[in-house]
Parts: sequence; C-alpha cells; structure tokens
Amino acid sequence: MKKNTLLEVKNLTKLYTSGYVRTVEVIGAKKVSFDIKKGEIFCLVGESGSGKTTVGNIILRLIKPSSGKVLLNGKNLFSYDKLAYWRKVQAVFQDPYSSFNFFYNADKPLNDAFDLLENSPSKDERKKIIRSTLETIGMNPDEILGRYPHQLSGGQMQRLLIARSLIIHPNLLVADELTSMIDASTRVAVLKELLRLKKNEKMSVLFITHDLAQAYFIGDRIAIMRKGEIVERGPVERVIFNPKHPYTKELVASVPPLHEKWEL
Ligand code: ADP
Ligand code: MG
Repeated sequence: MKKNTLLEVKNLTKLYTSGYVRTVEVIGAKKVSFDIKKGEIFCLVGESGSGKTTVGNIILRLIKPSSGKVLLNGKNLFSYDKLAYWRKVQAVFQDPYSSFNFFYNADKPLNDAFDLLENSPSKDERKKIIRSTLETIGMNPDEILGRYPHQLSGGQMQRLLIARSLIIHPNLLVADELTSMIDASTRVAVLKELLRLKKNEKMSVLFITHDLAQAYFIGDRIAIMRKGEIVERGPVERVIFNPKHPYTKELVASVPPLHEKWEL
C-alpha cells in the first residue's frame, strides 16, 4: 500500500437475490477495484442501476460484499470496531429528509454526532463547536438552531448533515448523489463545501453521482461504472476530454457544455 492511500477496494462483488417465488440473482457490483488517496475527491459515475450505491454501502459497512474486500489504512474494514470505523468513514446521504427525525429539532443530529467521538466535549463546548461549525459552512447558527426539520429547506438540511460530518471529522466522506435533492444555486455551495473540506481538512471524499459535470467540477480521479463494473478510470480531465471506452464517450456526449473548473 502506498503511503498516501486511504482506502483500497479490491475485487468487490455483490450479488443480490430477489424475488419471492423464484429467486433470481442480480449483480450489484462485479469485481470492482479502486483506491482513494488521502485528501482526494474520487468520483464514481454511472447511470442509475450501475452499482454505485452498492459499492458506497459496502464501504460504509451497511451491506456485506459477496466477495472481495475493503481496506482502510491497510486494514480490513471488518477488523475495526463498528463505531471506530464510522468515526473514520462517514456518509452524507442522498435524501437528507431520511436523516432527520421530524419530532426533534435540527440540533439533534449535530448533538448526536458527539456521541460517536472518543473524547466527547462538555455541553458548553458542544454548543460552541456546533455554532462555529455552522459558521464554517456559511450558515447562520441563529437561523438554524432550534428549528424543526419542516422549517428548513432541503439544501439547509444537506448542509447541516455536512456540518455533522465535520464535527465527526472522518477521514473519508461518502457522498451518494449528495446534491440530487437541492436546487442548483445551493448545489454549487454544497459542492464548494466539499472542495473546502478536501483542501483545508485533508478529507477524502467518495463522490457518487450520475452527473458527469459535477464529477468534473470537483473530482480528482474518476471511475465510470456500468452494469456493476468499472469500464474506465483515470484523472478526471483525461477521462472526460479523452474518453477511451464507448460508454464513457456516450456519457460525455450527453453532457451539456462544461464550464471552467472551479478555484476556491
Ligand atoms: P446505482 O446506485 O448506480 O443506481 P445500485 O447499486 O443501487 O445502483 O444498484 C445496482 C443494481 O443492484 C441494480 O440492478 C439494482 O436493481 C440492484 N439492487 C440494488 N439493491 C438491491 C437489493 N437490495 N436487492 C436486490 N437488488 C438490488
Ligand atoms: Mg444510487
């Protein structure tokens, strides 16, 4: 393993069985291998059903692979205590609504984040950290804290969840279709947030999306998935401007004209 490698995915295969009367096997992922460097945004791109979430969920330890393995810092993910692993690998989910309990105010997921930490700060310290974290991601704590989820927009919830992962400060953030629920203007802010996390916190991100343009904006390297397999991979610029695989060419051709790459 190279010194700057954070995560290695080796030959991951996931077969789902489905059906009641007659069971059929569905390929979720097939011999998927890649690695993510420290402080890198690695993108997994492909159409719906190509196996992106399957791979993400295996990395998050939410489902077990049929074969293959995932190594974090050179150690098999199952050799970690579950909580210790989730301190290092966190998710921001596609649907922010599913991460909130509508009976509690929006502070709860932030407060709960401290329970994952080894040395949990005092109540007063927690408050301070929550306020400063919200400010870090450009939110006004007074506008957010104490509100109930139904009083927040999808974009605000998504950013709250990013704030939550900031408190936990994982090595790897798995962002699965992170921006699919939010409007275009907030999307830019949220994507820039990921860039900032990478730059300032040296966090790695597994950015899962069906949208090649978003991958181009924020990604360092990219892997293109189709029917459970990676068909092409490489630095984002190379793959997008000089695609080799016919499927990648097809994907690139279907994207509206790309803009300049962002700078912070
Ligand atoms: P993506 O995230 O790229 O849309 P998924 O990983 O969700 O793709 O799905 C990959 C394939 O696995 C699809 O064919 C999907 O229908 C199938 N699949 C996903 N989850 C399950 C499940 N729990 N049971 C059966 N099949 C599943
Ligand atoms: Mg998915």
